[in-house]
Parts: sequence; C-alpha cells; structure tokens
Amino acid sequence: VQGKLDSLAASTNNSANFVLTEKALEKAALVDAKINKGESIGLLEGIPFGLKDVYLLQGEPASASSDFLKKYISPYTATAIQKLIDAGAIPIVKENCDSFGHGSSTENTVFGSAKNALDENKVAGGSSGGSAVNVAKNYTAFSIGGDTGGSIRQPAGYNKVYGLKPTYGRISRYGLMAYASSTDVVGPIAKSLEDIRIILNTLSGQDYHDQTTIESTPVSKEVVEDTDKAKTLKVGYYKNFIETEAIHPNIKKDFLSLMTKLKALGVSVTELDFYESDTLVSTYYTLAMAETASNLARLDGTNYGDRKEGKNLKEIYAQTRSDNFTEETKRRIVGGNQVLSTGHSEAIYLKARALRNEISDKFSSDFETVDIVLSPVTPQPTPLIGENLKDPLAMYLSDAYTVGFSLGGLPTLTAPQGTETGLQITANKSGEDSILQFANFLN
Ligand code: GLN
Repeated sequence: VQGKLDSLAASTNNSANFVLTEKALEKAALVDAKINKGESIGLLEGIPFGLKDVYLLQGEPASASSDFLKKYISPYTATAIQKLIDAGAIPIVKENCDSFGHGSSTENTVFGSAKNALDENKVAGGSSGGSAVNVAKNYTAFSIGGDTGGSIRQPAGYNKVYGLKPTYGRISRYGLMAYASSTDVVGPIAKSLEDIRIILNTLSGQDYHDQTTIESTPVSKEVVEDTDKAKTLKVGYYKNFIETEAIHPNIKKDFLSLMTKLKALGVSVTELDFYESDTLVSTYYTLAMAETASNLARLDGTNYGDRKEGKNLKEIYAQTRSDNFTEETKRRIVGGNQVLSTGHSEAIYLKARALRNEISDKFSSDFETVDIVLSPVTPQPTPLIGENLKDPLAMYLSDAYTVGFSLGGLPTLTAPQGTETGLQITANKSGEDSILQFANFLN
C-alpha cells in the first residue's frame, strides 16, 4: 500500500484526483497486524485499489472531475465499493476521468488531461482514463471504472490492460453518479483475467437500492480454465465494423489475421451483418444526452456542490450551472434537452428508443447462432492528446464499436491483444463465464 501511494504521489500521469493516504495506511496497518499474528487473511484483504471519481466513498470527495463537485464530500459509500471494503480491499485513490463520464479521452476534466501509460503524448482514453493508467502503471492492483458507452473498455484498450463491462444490472449502481442510467455499468480494470473474475464475483448481486439489479451465478475458475469448451464456442464478427473506410488498416489487418488464426485452431467463425456505426453512435448519443440532461438537472446550486450568488433562484441556477459545467457537459445538456423537448421528442428521442429496441432484438437473434462476438475496441489507434479535442464528432465516432453493446446491456471485455487497441469479447446477457473462458483460451 505504501509503495503504491508513493508511486501515485510521484506520478505525472494526472491519473489521480484525490489520494487517500492516511486512511489507507491505517487500514493497511490493521492487515499487517493480522499477518504478524499469524492470522489468515482473505483474498482481497489489504489489496490497494482505485476508484473512478464518480463513486461515493463516505467522508471522501466525489468530484466527477468537475468544478461543480470539487468540494463535495460523499455522504455514504457506493454498494460496489462497500463490497470491496467488506472483503478487506483498501481504496487508495479517487481517479481522474472525463467530467461526469462525458468523453472518450480524459481530457474533459478540471484536473488536467490524463496521459497514456505507454506513451505520455497520447490520451489515456476515457472516460475511466485515470483508472486504466493506474492499473497499467501498477499504481493500483485494480481499479473500478464505470462504463456507459465504452468508458471501461476503451481506456483499457488504450493502456493494454483488461477491462470488463458486465451485463447491465449485474452490479449495483447505487452510489455511482448517474450519467445515462439505462446503460451505466460498474466494472473492474485489472492486469489479469483471474483478478477480473474475483472482482466480478465480489461485486455482483442484487441490491435493494438499485431495482435494476439482477441475480447472477459466480464465475468459477474451472469454467474459465476449460480450454476444450472454449474451442467449441461459436464466434461471430460484424462484417461492417471491419469492411469500412473508417477503420485503420493495421487494426483491420490484425483483426482479420486473428480470425484466420482462430479458424486454423478449429474455431467456428461466422460473419454477421449489423447496423452501421453512424446509426449506433447517433442512437447512443441521443439517449445518453437525454438521460444526462435529466440526471444533471439536480445540480443547480441548491443541494449539491458549488453555489453561485444571484438576485433570485433563476439567476442562482443559471450562474451556478454556467460557471461549473465544462463546455462538453453543456453541449450534452443542451442537446439532451433539445431531443426531449416538445416537437422534437417524437422525431429524435422516441426514434432512438425504437432503434435501441431493434438493436437489442438483433443481438438476441445473433446470439441464437453464435456464442461470442469479437470486434476491435476502437476503429482507430490511440489519439494524441489534443487531437480530437476540438472535434466532438470525431470524439463521438471513436466510440463506434463500444456503444452498441451498451445499448444491448451486454457483457463485454477488453482483452489487451488482437489489435493495437485491444480485442472486445462480447456474449449474450449474463454470459461473463463464456467471455472469460474465451479470453483465457486466447492467452
Ligand atoms: N465516450 C462515451 C461518452 O462520452 C462513453 C463514456 C462512458 O462510457 N462514460 O458518452
């Protein structure tokens, strides 16, 4: 714990918003004492971890990397984080991310852009950029990210670590600041599949505080290591993700050579049709903006975070919101309110809702013929810092391969292999066991 706190303090990656030194050391001392007495300790006991700064941890700041909540102190602890603490794991850092999860690079943050763990000139990815960097740099043993449209998977890919977006509802969202509630998911970023498995099992479960949570079966080590079974899993991939001008030639080449390799190993590989990336990205962003506009309405200077002066309530609202949200967050609030407004909602918002249902139905029928869908994590390699910052559309399009699976609520894992920015392994709802099994087989 001390070693990781030291490296975090010395780091120049801007991966940390708040380092929780004192309390972490107190907790570590208790675990040391247990070990010295010869007592046995649990699997996660004393393990230092990081959490994206959108999770509540009682008594600690929860800023969402925004000016709005820079001084906000969490009144309670998120269910997922509490489960880790109950298992003995030690939170050591609140991690830099895109403000309120809005972004794909961890540049939309008031704490300074996070830098990629492998090349400091490149972005960390986002929105859980700080979390992926900390894992890649060994500053944390694992980190808890949040994924609404790719925010665990894409930074994991950019920093070459594992990142799992579990099935929607498998892990409680209670105490995670809501971005788009209908796709928000809690998940781990780690260096090994075994770590991902252990954390997934620790976090999963129904929670009275989140009525969308579902029951699930723990994933066993035996299942993950069953290579014979893995070989029989039927693989599919979306042809139009690969046969497009939007993909970088190296990513295409690496992906197709992996498909060839799998076929040579006797794995069944099927090409599938799918929606165009533009359709997926616009459906996702329409819904995500609508939901975030609603969720962030509660930040108005009366209950949470900063409050600016004004002659009346309206002025207080306006001044507080104008001064405290970033340009990107404002763009989303304005866009979200527009697609929800009278006269526009039928043409845009409700259309996106209908498309989302169609996309979900398409997944259901695809998973009648295949067990696993493979895809690159992103169409393009990791961008340089600043590269997409002035071009929101380019930033949104970098999410082309991740947002569809979010709309479907499907479990999906980034594995640091296959292509430069990683391989995305997706299964039908609650298929985390097949995903981990297949990822293990690829190692
Ligand atoms: N980049 C996507 C967005 O900005 C996804 C972010 C996320 O998953 N939080 O909406």
